[in-house]
Amino acid sequence: MIIATQNLASLYWRPICESLNSIKIFTQLLQVRTMPKTKVRINSAVIGFLLFASLVGGILIPGQMALSAEINIYSHRQKFLIEPFLEEFKERTGIKVNVVYASKGLAQRLQSEGEASPADVVLTVDIGRLKIYSDKGLFQSVNSKLLNSSIPEHLRSEDNTWFGFSKRSRVIAVSTERVTPNSIRRIEDLASPEWKGRICTRPGSHVYNRALLSSIIAANGEKEAENWATAFVSNLARRPQGNDRAQLKAISVGQCDVAIINHYYYGKLVNSEDAAQREWVKNVSIIFPNQEAEDRGAHINISGGGIAKYSQNVKEAVKFLEFLVSPEAQSLYANINYEYPVIEGIALPDTLTVWGEFKEDTVPIETIADLSPKTQMIIDRTRW
Ligand code: FE
Repeated sequence: MIIATQNLASLYWRPICESLNSIKIFTQLLQVRTMPKTKVRINSAVIGFLLFASLVGGILIPGQMALSAEINIYSHRQKFLIEPFLEEFKERTGIKVNVVYASKGLAQRLQSEGEASPADVVLTVDIGRLKIYSDKGLFQSVNSKLLNSSIPEHLRSEDNTWFGFSKRSRVIAVSTERVTPNSIRRIEDLASPEWKGRICTRPGSHVYNRALLSSIIAANGEKEAENWATAFVSNLARRPQGNDRAQLKAISVGQCDVAIINHYYYGKLVNSEDAAQREWVKNVSIIFPNQEAEDRGAHINISGGGIAKYSQNVKEAVKFLEFLVSPEAQSLYANINYEYPVIEGIALPDTLTVWGEFKEDTVPIETIADLSPKTQMIIDRTRW
């Protein structure tokens, strides 16, 4: 009898709960449609009508009234990379994802939107950019056993506000025609007079280089790191300029023999549809520095993200972050953009396996972020 009563209750409660959820989602949708700041006021008569209609519809045709859940992502990552993730996620969960893509300005936008922000998830690259969101208090702490058990501790924040979803190594690109194999083994070697007038780099204050220099401070101390930066800058073939791809092009046209790049740019150019870009890496090879047994390993940075402080769809947003550490999503990072997965056991594309395994610097990425202001002062002083 008790069982029968429970069944009867659940028969009516489920459609009622679904209907209430439908109204909640509907009102959120109205807010999203009118983003960024205007909240639509729905008067009680409208709510009453919706409640009545949803209850009737929910009870008579359960499920048909329920609108599917949605989340909104603010992404600094590009569309070509993100879209395959969204398709896979929607297929798995039925949750639709709307994305605002922008290379800059999303942190300011999120900040100015405040509580009215429709953003649920923020995706970006580099600890330097994640740190901006966390310093401005734009993320909320996420309680997910899956994220904490899947992502190595040194690649996520201590307070669970941001998480690394893929890894990138800052490596040394060298001309195979003008640089003797094994003549560079450590990032520290780039301070040697042997490389005078032979190195190209993008500006030091770019987040990629700032993180690299922070890793050198973490390993060798501030004074040593500044000495290194001074000698490194004195070895440059030209004023710091351009992006990482431009450094590879500079090697190919003989402007320099050595450059610092993120490893995936090499992969992108090797596999480029543009024959001219493939040419830029034809006579270039990659060195993962600091690989000796007693050494710390090559510097690692992350792409990552977190959940917006005022997300109204936290449950679905957490599901999305958890999806990003699934084997399928981790494989997408490796296959679409040649980034390294943060979880073990993912099959890598040939482009990444030709380099073999390499040792990674496991200094906590949060330490790299914390060193950033000191590092920037060294970059300013050494005019990198
Ligand atoms: Fe990049």
